[in-house]
Amino acid sequence: MTSPAIRIPFTGPLPPALIIPPSAKTIAGAIDAVSAFFTSPPSFHLRGVDVGSNTQTVLLTGAGISVASGLSDYRGDQGTYRRNTSYRPIYFHEFTARHEARKRYWARSFVGWPGLVSARPNSTHHAIRDLGAKGYISSVVTQNVDSFHSVAHPDLSTIELHGYLRSVVCVSCRNQFSRQEFQNSLERLNPAWAEFLARMVEVGALDTRNPEEQRKKGFKLNPDGDVDLPQAPYSTFRYPSCPTCLEKPPRLKDGTPARVEVESDGAWLPTSNAGILKPAVIMFGENIDPAVKTAAEEAIDDAGRLLVLGSSLATYSAWRLMERAYKRGMPIGIINVGGVRNETMLFGDPELGLTSKLGGTATGHVRCSHPTQDILPTVVSMLPDNPR
Ligand SMILES: [Zn+2]
Repeated sequence: MTSPAIRIPFTGPLPPALIIPPSAKTIAGAIDAVSAFFTSPPSFHLRGVDVGSNTQTVLLTGAGISVASGLSDYRGDQGTYRRNTSYRPIYFHEFTARHEARKRYWARSFVGWPGLVSARPNSTHHAIRDLGAKGYISSVVTQNVDSFHSVAHPDLSTIELHGYLRSVVCVSCRNQFSRQEFQNSLERLNPAWAEFLARMVEVGALDTRNPEEQRKKGFKLNPDGDVDLPQAPYSTFRYPSCPTCLEKPPRLKDGTPARVEVESDGAWLPTSNAGILKPAVIMFGENIDPAVKTAAEEAIDDAGRLLVLGSSLATYSAWRLMERAYKRGMPIGIINVGGVRNETMLFGDPELGLTSKLGGTATGHVRCSHPTQDILPTVVSMLPDNPR
């Protein structure tokens, strides 16, 4: 059985955040509530086998935690969907079927890349590292494609649910190549664009360390690593083919050899029917790798609690993991600025006296609406090592 393709998440405004317990409204109250969440004994309601991690927490992280690194999120005040209401991420079938769509995608990605490369993990990623060192974290599942987790805490298991931007992958032969080397090829194939980009870098328009300056100059790095470039002449953009497929064209499904043709300098020609490189991220309409999906589910099943950081759970794959944790009887914590998809269905509504519609029995949930960097670094500094 294959996993369901990623569907386009709804982009409309979410309802206001629930606050659980009510004291978590203030930063100090939220810090206390999150500390208690990490240190409370495993829930009596947990189902499944204890693989020795029931005193530990699995994290599920989203774009909200990378905002402090200069990247946009999707649904925050300055989020991609708020600033540009016509923004629509590219679909997998569009990317693979249309040369023009790929030109546009790679042009925007080309301009976004230097900003992404210069962006660094922030205090939330470092707090996660320190929580891991103190024994509180079993693993991290992330929706982010920015690789900040693996940079900040290489020793803590991280499952990248939606892939990563640091590589490109061939749609035909599935070989992966470095995105930085791909950037060098794009630069060589697009001298006019490279000059434009060099100018942007020079004036600091792509400097993720200075989001204010970036905003003034009209650029904002989207969480997928691209930037909006209104009116740009995308049709002039050129990109290389997969080097492996160029050297040895793969077979098509009917067994005949595929055609991989390039210009004399290596730019992919639309007379080809293979050798297309795409970013190693899961695009909308594309399936999550079944092995990655299974690893994420196992990460949920192996922990005693789930803490969601900086995600509104708007994508179905993230919501499903949360639902799985809930049904397993795990206490759920959510630190996210603003509303979260279906959260009254999950937690009920304490003010209205409504109970959860998911039918779970777990207690000990925490929900607050503060930036993670205002909560987690203080929490980890206060906690002793997890005795386990
Ligand atoms: Zn290939």
